[in-house]
Amino acid sequence: MDFVESDALAEHRQAAHAWAERHFRPEWVEQEHATGTHHNPELHALLGQQGLLGAGWPAQYGGTDVDPAYALAVFQEIGARGLRMDGWVTTEMVTRTILHVATEEAKQEIVPAALRGEVVIVLGYTEPGSGSDVAAARMRAVRDGDEWVVNGSKMFTSTAHMATHVFLLARTNTEVPKHKGLTLFLARLDAPGVEVQPVHTLGGQRTNATFYSDVRVPDSMRIGEVDGGWGVMRVALVHERGTAVAPGGPTLVEQVAEWARTAPGPDGAPLLDDPTVAEQLARLAIDDEVSRLLGLKVRWIAATGGMPGIEGSMAKLYSSEAEQRRVDVLTDLLGEQALLRDGAGPLHGAVEWAYRKAPVSTIYGGTSEVQREIVAERRLGLPRSRPVG
Ligand SMILES: Cc1cc2nc3c(=O)[nH]c(=O)nc-3n(C[C@H](O)[C@H](O)[C@H](O)COP(=O)(O)OP(=O)(O)OC[C@H]3O[C@@H](n4cnc5c(N)ncnc54)[C@H](O)[C@@H]3O)c2cc1C
Repeated sequence: MDFVESDALAEHRQAAHAWAERHFRPEWVEQEHATGTHHNPELHALLGQQGLLGAGWPAQYGGTDVDPAYALAVFQEIGARGLRMDGWVTTEMVTRTILHVATEEAKQEIVPAALRGEVVIVLGYTEPGSGSDVAAARMRAVRDGDEWVVNGSKMFTSTAHMATHVFLLARTNTEVPKHKGLTLFLARLDAPGVEVQPVHTLGGQRTNATFYSDVRVPDSMRIGEVDGGWGVMRVALVHERGTAVAPGGPTLVEQVAEWARTAPGPDGAPLLDDPTVAEQLARLAIDDEVSRLLGLKVRWIAATGGMPGIEGSMAKLYSSEAEQRRVDVLTDLLGEQALLRDGAGPLHGAVEWAYRKAPVSTIYGGTSEVQREIVAERRLGLPRSRPVG
């Protein structure tokens, strides 16, 4: 494996820091915590205008000449300052899928606008009755001339209240096995018949339930072949798993280790003087490093034109479960102080925030059980655990 990417990143880190000093507004983090919305329109527009979203993308679809390593360093700097960019994460996944499978017309209409920051796309796969078994989607799309008429509902349509488009998985054929009757569409969220209702989660994140009544989508916004949606989903899910950009700067474990150098333990001595504390932190640091390397492998496969299917599942499974181990251990180490939010707690409440956020990480993007099945079947060649639908 080639680690040139991380060398290039090191060069750009200083410039990214300067960028953030100039543009980043600390109140954005407070807003994110208060609203549970992991998307900041002001920041998103700025990144689009400055060509950072388009860095490394093909020029004919609006790619810019900004160095992708610099853009990555800026995204990491934003993450290190505590802000998530879920609106861009889902837009990027869908836009990459569009580049793989859509018509030239759809590519020209969507990709440049997405890279300018004008189009924000969210994922509409999960329904009230289908999550892991995503191919069981019941949303219906029926053709009417040059348009499709869409009816149904989606669950957990995160960021839909801030987005322009939703990538909808819909059933276009009820006469064939479930995987063979699906098609994907890019629907406008401001179209007549779309309703967005908030769903607030334990972790503080706001997601949504979305409802679609006779929503019209032009055929030009069909992404992939009619009834070919399962193939499109396989591409889209690969882009969903393991491609997340890890924040730059010290990790949470490193921050807690630094804090533990002086924070007193039960006997009054610094916590880090306790060898069991040091050992626990070391184990977590190893977990972090393994997660980082698995993530790098996925990005490397994608960057060299491959499809990191199994590798994405392995990275997602390992890093999300490591995240849960990490917050459990850190919460124990901080004791009652781990319950204090924001400015009231050590490290500005970072452990409390991480603890509430961690449970969903093994659910969205495919649960741990589903990732294990993928690795078991496709890597180890073990038998399927469920009937072919
Ligand atoms: C915060 C949050 C944000 C989300 N954002 C989005 C979004 O933006 N867009 C979107 O479309 N979806 C989103 N999701 C939905 C997410 O992808 C689903 O919750 C997930 O796929 C699981 O589906 P489910 O909730 O219906 O659970 P179920 O599929 O009902 O699963 C319940 C349990 O059964 C287990 N299980 C299911 N099938 C199997 C199997 N074959 N073998 C073994 N175990 C199995 C699961 O692992 C799980 O433990 C989000 C979810 C959350 C929590």
